[in-house]
Amino acid sequence: MIPGMPTSDAITIPPHLLPADGRFGSGPSKVRPAQVDMLAALGRTVLGTSHRQAPVRRLVARAKEGLLDLLGAPAGYEVVLGNGGSTTFWDVATCSLVARRAQHATFGEFGAKFAAATRAAPFLDEPDVREVPPGRLALPEATDGVDTYAWPQNETSTGVVAPVRRVGGDAALVVVDATSAAGAVPVDLAETDVYYLAPQKVLASDGGLWFAVVSPSAVERAATVAASDRWIPESLSFTTALANSRLDQTLNTPAIATLVLLVEQLDWLREAGGLEWAAARSAASARVLYSWAQSREWATPFVAEEALRSPVVGTIDLDDAVDARAVIAALRDNGIVDVDPYRKLGRNQLRVGMYPAVDPADVEALTACVDHVVERLA
Ligand SMILES: *Cc1c(COP(=O)(O)O)cnc(C)c1O
Repeated sequence: MIPGMPTSDAITIPPHLLPADGRFGSGPSKVRPAQVDMLAALGRTVLGTSHRQAPVRRLVARAKEGLLDLLGAPAGYEVVLGNGGSTTFWDVATCSLVARRAQHATFGEFGAKFAAATRAAPFLDEPDVREVPPGRLALPEATDGVDTYAWPQNETSTGVVAPVRRVGGDAALVVVDATSAAGAVPVDLAETDVYYLAPQKVLASDGGLWFAVVSPSAVERAATVAASDRWIPESLSFTTALANSRLDQTLNTPAIATLVLLVEQLDWLREAGGLEWAAARSAASARVLYSWAQSREWATPFVAEEALRSPVVGTIDLDDAVDARAVIAALRDNGIVDVDPYRKLGRNQLRVGMYPAVDPADVEALTACVDHVVERLA
């Protein structure tokens, strides 16, 4: 058997049931053809040119402006960017933003990884970690001695969405992981000091960069930490990233293609109606997915509490009698890919990325395809 090729007993889904586009990954996620066309259009002029020259710096400037506009950032907020994705940003925040002690509301793998980063830092106090089992929501809580509050707005590993509200008073920073939320889940950025993301989820780009929309308080905190005697590696220095971002540059070479795909998607989202439009589109997909799951005897939304169900990453548990791995394999044979559950969650589950690039009609088609496969497997 050749991996990825249909086997002889493969299930063939009738073409009329198939989605127009079979990519439902939670990250990396579907890239729209128009984005790839833009990449091709810049293939001989901007790709393969210096990131210190105007054409690439203009891309960085457009990405910054596009994010501030799409996310409705308050006056005084600015965009900082650097290489390494959200995972690297956890280290940037650990080294450059947490003064002494962080609190983490942890309800899945991604929130837990940031908590592990501050726990491992020898120059910080033991973090205050508020943890609940997967599928539920932990909330931050004002606590003496905590100077940084951190949680994900959307926990991509479980499909739980969290409120974003200030906690801890004026002196504390609110640092929100919006990697899989920014641009599709409503937010009031005035409730945050640092709202960070990587562009390969909602924003349909490729990986490798981190972006953070930051308040003046975050800039001030970073300056205070940088002036202390803490050693901060240059690549993890927020103040260095900020100085470069203000010049529409990055400390070291960025992925230019990632910037092009991002800028094209930001334009598309804003022309279509902005965050409100994007949120409505993802919510429409989510309604289709969750109501379908509730109407099937063998499927159940993993997140029990309806208000916590993510509008962008839907997690659907399957009955023990239906092997999710077999369903996922049959879908893949038919060009429908990446509906795998988060690997460490270890559930008999489908996980569906419903970012704005995904057409709600394709989510509807996906449910019909799952029905078809489950009937044939039985
Ligand atoms: C994907 C994801 C990350 C990690 O992003 P990388 O760019 O791969 O480092 C972090 N947090 C959340 C919520 C994510 O969904």
